[in-house]
Amino acid sequence: MILTINCGSSSLKYQLYSSDLTRVVAKGMVSRIGETGAHIDHSAGRERIHQDMVIADHGSAFRHVIDNLLHPEWGALTDIGLITAVGHRAVHGGDTFVDSVLVTDAVLRQLEACTPLAPLHNPANLLGIEEARRLLPDVPHVVVFDTSFHQTMPPSAHVYGLPYRFYGEHKIRRYGFHGTSCRYVSGLAGEILGRPVEDLRLVVCHLGNGVTIDAVAGGRSVDTSMGFGTFSGVMMGTRAGDFDPGLIFHLHSVLKLDMPEIERICYKESGLLGISGVSNDMRDVVAAADAGNERCALAVDMFVHMVRKQVGAFAAVMGGIDALVFTAGIGENSPYIRARIAAGLEFLGVEIDAQANADGNRKPALISPAGARTAVLVAPTDEEMMIARDTVRLAGSAHLLRLQDSPLSLLPAE
Ligand code: ADP
Repeated sequence: MILTINCGSSSLKYQLYSSDLTRVVAKGMVSRIGETGAHIDHSAGRERIHQDMVIADHGSAFRHVIDNLLHPEWGALTDIGLITAVGHRAVHGGDTFVDSVLVTDAVLRQLEACTPLAPLHNPANLLGIEEARRLLPDVPHVVVFDTSFHQTMPPSAHVYGLPYRFYGEHKIRRYGFHGTSCRYVSGLAGEILGRPVEDLRLVVCHLGNGVTIDAVAGGRSVDTSMGFGTFSGVMMGTRAGDFDPGLIFHLHSVLKLDMPEIERICYKESGLLGISGVSNDMRDVVAAADAGNERCALAVDMFVHMVRKQVGAFAAVMGGIDALVFTAGIGENSPYIRARIAAGLEFLGVEIDAQANADGNRKPALISPAGARTAVLVAPTDEEMMIARDTVRLAGSAHLLRLQDSPLSLLPAE
């Protein structure tokens, strides 16, 4: 069986897959690690449990996960040896990792070197990998990066117009995020359309709490809305998205706000929440807008405008689009937002079939009318499945790596 692990700064999500990846046999989440109110939600088959307990760190969280997986009542394993490989999510692979990789000590050192690029996320990812390797030392571990899918962007799309030395010496550039989701969704879009992804120009709209719009040509990411960090592009739940960076100097020099305060405002108090004054949750904002709240209506209008603008830009980048693909919380669940975004994109051949759109939630669906020039799709994302697939793909070559590491290696030197 394949175990996937996704460590956040105070959480650990896990899923256990059957070896052919057709079934999730157990899954769960450890929340508030190292904080008061720590708890675990675990399910396997029909069993569901909630445990409140003190969980000091990611190491102890991981041990509880294994205990639950082995538990005679609510577990899914009779023996830990049934786990044949573990897949991990990491947020930032810098420009070092262009694909998922098998974990080795050298890989962990390289991942650590990427920490300054994602100081809040990579340390938790590293901790999770180290603990998992300690508890499951004899199986291959694979790490999958949110950034690696976007490493195919050409320099014209990923270099910023700052003095070149910041790029050359400090690796300051557009990296992009949600790559695991965009990669999964691009493959699924090809399946829904019955066409090889290599033949398609897609604009993927990952609309969740965080938002990524991605231009995917021939299965490769060629431009993306997020950048060096997880801030740029479309306005999000609490993040402002694109605005003139000159404003930061103004907030600092004229309004006398200090940098940590500006950072907090831009990341945590802006976006849907900041404009609506009601919520960061699109459901609440749309409901309040329907009830006549003008600032909520403005927040929705701005969100829709920014997505539409980005789609148009990426159509220009790719010289046209074959399909517009919606995914993540808002993209998968809101026919209203999908229809609002599509309206106004008719010049790109985008049309929506109202009934198919209304019926198209939470499942792979074509929601444009038959014969439309540009297909519009709902493609539910599944980052865990993408991690599990990469794990299976790379774990098969783990024995080669061991041979290479061995002093008695018979493999030819490179
Ligand atoms: P995350 O980026 O945290 O993984 P999700 O992809 O789960 O987020 O998306 C969360 C967002 O999805 C929430 O902010 C919520 O506004 C939105 N969402 C979920 N269901 C609906 C719905 N029925 N209508 C509109 N928005 C929805």
